[in-house]
Amino acid sequence: MTDADAAGLDDADVDDADVDDADVAGSTEHYEAVVVGAGPGGAAAAAALAQQGVETLVLERGVDAGSKNVSGGLIYAEESAPYTIDGLFPGFREEASERPVDEYFMHNVAGDRVKTLDLDRVHDRDTDWCDAVLRRRMDSWLAERVHETTRETGGGLLTEVRVNGLLREDGEIVGVTCDELDPIRADLIVAADGVNSELARDAGLMDWDDPGDWFQGVKAVVDLDPDVINDRFGVGPDGGAAHLFSGDLFDGVRGGGFLYTNEDSLSIGTVFHLDSLTARQAEPHELLDGLLTHPLLDQWLQGEYEEREYSAKLVPDSKKVAHPSPHSGRLLLVGDAAGQMQAQGPIIKGMNHAVAAGGLAAEAFVDARTRGDASKAGDLYERKLREEGVMEKLRPRRYRATRAVAEHDAVNRLGSALIESPLGAAGLRAFEGLTERAFNSPLLLGMVPDTKFSYVTVPTRIAEVLGKPIEGRSEADASAAGEDEPGVHPPDLADRIGDLTYDVGDPHIELLDESYEASGAAVTACPVSAEDFGGGCYRDETVRTNGEEKRVVSLDTQPCVECGTCAVVAETEWEHPSGGKGVEYKEG
Ligand SMILES: Cc1cc2nc3c(=O)[nH]c(=O)nc-3n(C[C@H](O)[C@H](O)[C@H](O)COP(=O)(O)OP(=O)(O)OC[C@H]3O[C@@H](n4cnc5c(N)ncnc54)[C@H](O)[C@@H]3O)c2cc1C
Ligand code: SF4
Repeated sequence: MTDADAAGLDDADVDDADVDDADVAGSTEHYEAVVVGAGPGGAAAAAALAQQGVETLVLERGVDAGSKNVSGGLIYAEESAPYTIDGLFPGFREEASERPVDEYFMHNVAGDRVKTLDLDRVHDRDTDWCDAVLRRRMDSWLAERVHETTRETGGGLLTEVRVNGLLREDGEIVGVTCDELDPIRADLIVAADGVNSELARDAGLMDWDDPGDWFQGVKAVVDLDPDVINDRFGVGPDGGAAHLFSGDLFDGVRGGGFLYTNEDSLSIGTVFHLDSLTARQAEPHELLDGLLTHPLLDQWLQGEYEEREYSAKLVPDSKKVAHPSPHSGRLLLVGDAAGQMQAQGPIIKGMNHAVAAGGLAAEAFVDARTRGDASKAGDLYERKLREEGVMEKLRPRRYRATRAVAEHDAVNRLGSALIESPLGAAGLRAFEGLTERAFNSPLLLGMVPDTKFSYVTVPTRIAEVLGKPIEGRSEADASAAGEDEPGVHPPDLADRIGDLTYDVGDPHIELLDESYEASGAAVTACPVSAEDFGGGCYRDETVRTNGEEKRVVSLDTQPCVECGTCAVVAETEWEHPSGGKGVEYKEG
């Protein structure tokens, strides 16, 4: 009997599997495959394994698949991809996504000027379709299908189970250990446990050391009537739009903003390089508010603002951390756990690559088993990622070849001086037509250096030289609508934290070094903490001991949204909360 059977799991349990320890205690269960995490990577791996008849158990720590997950989020089906979400899950677009997105713009902003570029060409390139999604709805829909198909193999999907490590025998990985269940052995372990993969770390395949390897994403889901969306964005009921923002609206922090239309809401957020965020001691929620209250957004929000949810998560930068060899023994990493999230200029693609990798991991295991040696699955998976072109998208050779020069300080200083000079302005005017083409060029986007020059200076200068004044509503329009002035008033941090749902368990993060030097960066970088704010996770104070003054940091994980930021920027022992505990996103 399998764990899933032993746990008495039937169809109704998929959303709320009450795993009874007594049912499974005392024996180490075995499955052909265990998949950890039911995001797009895990769902794709599990579906592809089950379709090939592999006995598969999926373990998800959330109360429901998607309850821990955040993305912008546009999910792509690339023409060149070996696996797509609708290929593995027929009916996905009709039942699990929000709106097709067929318009794609980039707004370069400088003060009250904007230069808008049409990025349809880069958006459409290699794109079969692209939909906006909300993760709770999407992932829980996928999980129901995964549960149905994996049950037919003798497995199933269990929620509220946190895998806390790898089971080893004579140094070899042979399974997983969990907070809520006895250890489980498997011939294949797929770690699809996301950006803060404890399994990748346990296997020595992921470092959490360098803020330069990560982005931090923060997002608000904003309520808006479908007819109002159609009207204000000029889209039909079966259409949608994506708007990206860069320039001087984020206090010089490297990164940008996004706005995507959902069925009856908007997803508005920011994605910043974590090293830039910490270096400038910027507060993520304030940068998000800077976007929400910007006059450019007034054309769509028009003074209406009802925030459904505030959320945040780290995102790996595949250019730097996509693991070229994402496996160790029976363990295969897919999706964010393998660093497979592509962010190059205006291109943000993670979910589609997680799906492709999940499908390839399953295919590799089945191929290896058919050849009589399942232990070769990892090598085959690595080869398939390369031969199917996935690795080249994640870690473009162009970026690696040009990085040393393009990210050199002297080159960036020279570039900034040139573009900010009258000569640079004349050049931009002379080649105005080329600007849009450059932003639509996959060749150039694959080389975008991670510098302030490319993320802040160039867009700002484009707006200054080529832009026109932002046309917001007038004071009179706002006053006629009963507002003091045009613009919206997002909730403050305390209200945002108060509106989230938590089932607080034991503290899951331990502060190892409380000195401000070691852990102070978390006070501002944590998306639910802020300088001089008493209600968040991280606080700092100056204490006097033995006549000496010391600045120290303290941590309270109660309002933690499990974004992972402090694992990278502070000295912590970082773990996810136990199954079913911690924050629960309703939108994601
Ligand atoms: C603000 C923001 C905007 C983004 N925008 C986009 C976008 O527009 N398009 C796009 O394609 N991508 C976008 N991304 C990235 C995208 O969300 C990820 O690349 C994608 O979710 C990765 O999928 P995954 O399956 O690897 O991991 P995840 O979706 O993170 O899923 C991991 C799953 O594993 C579970 N889990 C974790 N640890 C354990 C454990 N120990 N035991 C059991 N279960 C566990 C989690 O609960 C979760 O369900 C964005 C991300 C952010 C934060
Ligand atoms: S305590 Fe750490 S993991 Fe939790 S929200 Fe803050 S930075 Fe993110």
